[in-house]
Amino acid sequence: MRAAQTRGIKVVPRMIPSLCKCIGIFYYYLQEIELRRNKSGPAKLLLLLGGETVEKNLSKTYDPKQFETRLYEQWEKSGAFHGKRDPEKTPFTIVMPPPNITGQLHMGHALDHTLQDVLTRWKRMQGFDTLWLPGSDHASIATEVKVADKIRTEEGKTKEELGRDEFLKRAWEWKETYGGKITEQCRKLGDSCDWERERFTMDEGCNKAVVEFFVRLYEQGLIYKGNRIINWCPSCGTSLSDAEVEHDDKNSKYYYIRYPGADGGQGIVVATSRPETIFGDIAIAVNPEDSRYENMIGKEVIIPLVGKAIPVLADPYPDPEKGTGAVKITPAHDPNDFEVGLRHDLEQPSCINLDATMNSLAGKYEGMDRYECRKAWTADLDVAGYLVKTEDMVIPLGECYRCRDAVEPMLSEQWFVRMEELAKPAIEAAEKGDLTHVPERFEKIYLHWLEEIRDWCISRQLWWGHRIPAYYCQDCDELMVTRETPETCTKCGSGNIKQDEDVLDTWFSSALWPFSTLGWPEKTPDMEHYFPTNVLVTGYDIIFFWVVRMVFSSLAMTGESPFSHVYVHGLVRDGEGRKMSKSLGNGVDPLEIIDQYGADALRFMLATGISPGSDIRFKIDRLESCRNFANKLWNASRFVIMNLQDEDGNFRPMAEGEKGIGNLALKDEDKWILTKLNEAVAEITGNMDNYDLALAGQKVHELIWNEYCDWYIELVKARLYGEDEADKQVARFILVKVLKDMLTLLHPFMPFITEEIWSFLPGNKEMLIVSQWPVYDEALNFQGESRRMEMAMEIIRSIRNIRAEAEAAPSRKLRAVILASEKAAGDVAAGENYLKNLANLTEVRFIENKEQIPEEVMSAVVDGAEIFIPLDDLLDYKAEHQRLEKEKSRLQGEIAKLSSKLNNPGFVEKAPEAVVSAEREKLDKAETMLEKVEERLAIVVKKL
Ligand SMILES: [Zn+2]
Ligand SMILES: [Zn+2]
Repeated sequence: MRAAQTRGIKVVPRMIPSLCKCIGIFYYYLQEIELRRNKSGPAKLLLLLGGETVEKNLSKTYDPKQFETRLYEQWEKSGAFHGKRDPEKTPFTIVMPPPNITGQLHMGHALDHTLQDVLTRWKRMQGFDTLWLPGSDHASIATEVKVADKIRTEEGKTKEELGRDEFLKRAWEWKETYGGKITEQCRKLGDSCDWERERFTMDEGCNKAVVEFFVRLYEQGLIYKGNRIINWCPSCGTSLSDAEVEHDDKNSKYYYIRYPGADGGQGIVVATSRPETIFGDIAIAVNPEDSRYENMIGKEVIIPLVGKAIPVLADPYPDPEKGTGAVKITPAHDPNDFEVGLRHDLEQPSCINLDATMNSLAGKYEGMDRYECRKAWTADLDVAGYLVKTEDMVIPLGECYRCRDAVEPMLSEQWFVRMEELAKPAIEAAEKGDLTHVPERFEKIYLHWLEEIRDWCISRQLWWGHRIPAYYCQDCDELMVTRETPETCTKCGSGNIKQDEDVLDTWFSSALWPFSTLGWPEKTPDMEHYFPTNVLVTGYDIIFFWVVRMVFSSLAMTGESPFSHVYVHGLVRDGEGRKMSKSLGNGVDPLEIIDQYGADALRFMLATGISPGSDIRFKIDRLESCRNFANKLWNASRFVIMNLQDEDGNFRPMAEGEKGIGNLALKDEDKWILTKLNEAVAEITGNMDNYDLALAGQKVHELIWNEYCDWYIELVKARLYGEDEADKQVARFILVKVLKDMLTLLHPFMPFITEEIWSFLPGNKEMLIVSQWPVYDEALNFQGESRRMEMAMEIIRSIRNIRAEAEAAPSRKLRAVILASEKAAGDVAAGENYLKNLANLTEVRFIENKEQIPEEVMSAVVDGAEIFIPLDDLLDYKAEHQRLEKEKSRLQGEIAKLSSKLNNPGFVEKAPEAVVSAEREKLDKAETMLEKVEERLAIVVKKL
């Protein structure tokens, strides 16, 4: 038995009672008789083999649930996903952007993964040693918040009450329970990634890489500890990266506050939206160009009610157009003020605690919450006459992306990566072409970000994550940054040592993902073979936070760019173009879509609906048309398989074409479809090379639907049912050959349906996933025959149009008269039989000049020929006569009704003008139509 057939085996419950074998045998014969009687049924042919049935053809309807999960398991078990580290083959590597362990597969992932899988499957078929490396991210803050919530609701404890060690134990338990969910969901989508190499950002190897990276940067002087303004979430109790702060417009107020002059003068009015930070003021800044304040520069003003004198400075930062043009400077609570402070060497007093309460600098407001203080303080300023006015304003406010609390810019001692030196090689890599962005325009964004880069705050006041490998001697305060936990202090020898409490920013470990997952810092065989990787596929929204960081980290540690290409895609938006979000409730769950339409339809819609870098709109009608496409392919394949087999399901003889298809006795239609296929192979491969996946997918669609299903199958039907055995064999051979190549071309986009159909086709020794991608073959380029065929098809199409216009049934026999140009005459004449068969013609008459055109015809023009069909052939005069009579009486009735309405003075006088004129218009129209119908009737009556 052929391998392809055995793959379709399914064991069904034994229907034959074992106690009564003779009944079983009788039952078998009944089945046989039933099958033989039902001649149209080889598609449903079942052979009973001792209780097993072997399916010989696809099931009657396309139902992805029947095979998607089964095929995925078969692929995985076969080892097809596994990177073999084959020294004979060129590697092709993609690392999967690691989804958060807290995550659920959403449409963005579905798009991202589809594109990666299309590339991986395509390269695998092209003979590359492919590795698509999967994994997940520990997602420091997101996971910590989830675990803390769980502990709070289930045990009524805070994480502090539980303690660090116990909390981490719970976090790991949580990861084991929920962390694998998203990778399970990837399987549903068909991701052909190497699960044997699955990684986690906090596994042993990644931990080691993180420590090595930190220590090396520290040793190079690129990591330092320093005071900086950071984004602080008072509720979560941690610093946040810029990426973790979301900005939202909020109704707020500007408070105009007078700082009286120390000399007793009027002083300066300053506008601020955060008056509670006034206790941390250290100066007032004005723009040196601002003539209003010329005389104030160098003088002092008094902080109202506080009584402290502060200087007025000249600095380019204040914008004379904004507020009063004068700005209060609070270096500890504002990033811009912090920079001004550095320029003028100012002190950095803080007045707000980390839990957002006021400290002793706030005097009588100490201990109050920041907003409570704002209220009391501005009321007091008002009473004392320092509050000049307030103004309602809409201000973009930074919020913690986890808990939505207002982010407080705070001065804090944190760990930083010095960026200037690291950014340079990353800029050069793009400029030298070591790193290419697809589409190219994203390079600008990448470069802009690197040129503007600020030092990267990498410490987080959390527990779940990589703990910073910095150790402090409790006796002499010595700081040690080491790969291993030191036992004694290198300076004083004390054993009283404590590790830094903070963990690293989540991006610190994901920055190493392309090489930490391959074994770095060790020189592993995987690292040698698969690194640098080929392409990173990601959404444009994380170029800044992730792509850039991977590039500079890799350049600093390995000396190479981690990938040669960044393929940037857009976001999946809803049907109206809005971002899918939880709060809008407009998200679409990919798993529900897969359940309803199958993974293939979803994948095809996502992959063909994009152009690189642009957003895609999710529309159900597009999804439906993708499923219709799958249906069409399924039904056509079922037809083909049915025609390849005899009644017992054995494959009938086929032409031996492998030694040179061109030598077979091919008909024009065979040569045409081979040429079309061949051209498509070249174009699609070229599109894929350029990352134009959508275009490639659309071309496969066109080839399968328009050329193969709509034309080729129709063209060969007569031959399959004919008497010429040799020709039948050729037709069968070409049907299968083209179908197989099309399945190969479609496989990266729709892996499941193509693999399932493949398993029913003859002569396949391997699964489709590992079979070969077709290559262009000049021997299959039949230009002349192809041109002739297209000419015939054009003419057939035009005759079909004429039929439709004349409402003539497809079964109605017609005669055609064709006037071809001198150049096209040969091609047109060669197609005579195709025209007769597919346009249902009894006669094709070729004429040489316009004088020979018969009277009363409908005509059409194609490139190189004019086609005329006599009206007498097209029209069924009897039926037309009936139709026109019916139309005539309908129109007469309508005219009568409208006329009586318009002759009724009650209506004409009372109804609004517009209604009356609309009725009049209707009457005019009906009258004109009646005239035309009567004219036509006069002609038709003569023909009867
Ligand atoms: Zn928060
Ligand atoms: Zn010490």
